[in-house]
Amino acid sequence: MHSPPLPPTDPELLAQMLALQEASPQLIGVFDQHDVLRFANPAFREAFNLAPEAQPRWLDMMRANARAGRGSVVSAPPAELENWLAAVASRRGKQAFRAFEADLMDGRWIWMCETLLPNGWMFCCASDISSLKTDGRALRLQRDQALRAAQTDVLTGISNRAHVLQQLEQQLAGLHQPGRRLAVILLDLDRFKQINDGLGHEAGDRVLCDFARRLQRSTRRGDACGRMGGEEFLLLLADVEAEQARAIVERLLEQLRQSRPLAEQPLFRYTCSAGLAVARAGDSARSVCQRADVALYQAKAAGRDRCVLASD
Ligand code: GH3
Ligand code: MG
Ligand code: MG
Repeated sequence: MHSPPLPPTDPELLAQMLALQEASPQLIGVFDQHDVLRFANPAFREAFNLAPEAQPRWLDMMRANARAGRGSVVSAPPAELENWLAAVASRRGKQAFRAFEADLMDGRWIWMCETLLPNGWMFCCASDISSLKTDGRALRLQRDQALRAAQTDVLTGISNRAHVLQQLEQQLAGLHQPGRRLAVILLDLDRFKQINDGLGHEAGDRVLCDFARRLQRSTRRGDACGRMGGEEFLLLLADVEAEQARAIVERLLEQLRQSRPLAEQPLFRYTCSAGLAVARAGDSARSVCQRADVALYQAKAAGRDRCVLASD
C-alpha cells in the first residue's frame, strides 16, 4: 500500500505533532480509501486491542474485537454479528464529517468524530465522555442539592432571603381562605456592630448562628423563618392571633437573654428587637414587611430588646 506524500512541513512541527498524538488519551486513527487502518495512536490501539504494527481493515478489526470482547459494544447477538457489521459499515465513510456516541466493552463511553476526505481517507478521533453519563437518579439528586443550596443561607443554614420571601408570598396567597392568619415578624440583633467590633467578626458569626438556631426552634410546621441579610431575620407565624404571635416572640427574646453563645466569653449575652405586623387580605410581601419594619424601628427607638406590634 502506498501512502500519499506528506506536505512539505517544518520537521520539528511534525515531530511534535507525532509526540502529541502519542501522548494523547484521545483515540486517534487514520483509515485509507480501502478502510485499512494506516495509523493509530497508543490509546486507539489499546481500545481496539491492536498490536503496535497492526494495520487491519476496519471490518477485520471489528470482527476480531467482537470475538475477543474488546472494542465497541456490539448491540446484536453473536449469530447476527455479520448483519450488524454490514449495517454499521453502511453508515461509515458516507459524510464529510460525522460524530456519534459509542459504548466500549471496557465500560467507557466515547464521542467519536470522523472526518472524511474526498479521496476516501478518514481521520477518527474519540474522546472519553464517561463522566458525562450520570444516570437520571444522580441527576435528580444533584438538581435537588443545587435547589436546596439556592434556598439556604450559607452561614446559618436556615432559609435565605429569596426563599423566606417566596414562602411569605405563598402564605399571603393562601390568606383569602376563611380562618387563615399570618403574623410577619422582622427581627434585628441589637448593637451587633459592637459585638463585631469588640469580639471580632468570627464571634459575630457564631452569635448569628446561635440566633438562627433559636429562631428555627420557635417555628412549628406551617411557620417559616429566614435570614434577610446581615443581622436581620424574618419570622412567619401561620394561623395565630396578634397576641399569640407576640407571646411566641417574647418567649424567643427571653431565650436570647438567657443564651451564652460564646464559650470563651461566658458572660457575653445579646438581645434582639422585633417588629410584628399581622398580614391583611390584599397585603403584598412588601406592604406587610414595611409595617413590620416601622414597628421594628419603634422597638429600637424605645430601647431595644423588645417586640412592638405594628398599629393598623
Ligand atoms: P441596632 O441595634 O440599631 O440594630 O445596631 P446594629 O449595630 O445591630 O446595627 P448596624 O446596622 O449598625 O450594624 C449591623 C452590623 O452587622 C454591621 C455589619 O458589619 C454586621 N454584619 C452584617 N452581616 C454580617 C455577617 O454575616 N457576619 C457578621 N459577623 N457581621 C455581620
Ligand atoms: Mg442590628
Ligand atoms: Mg440591621
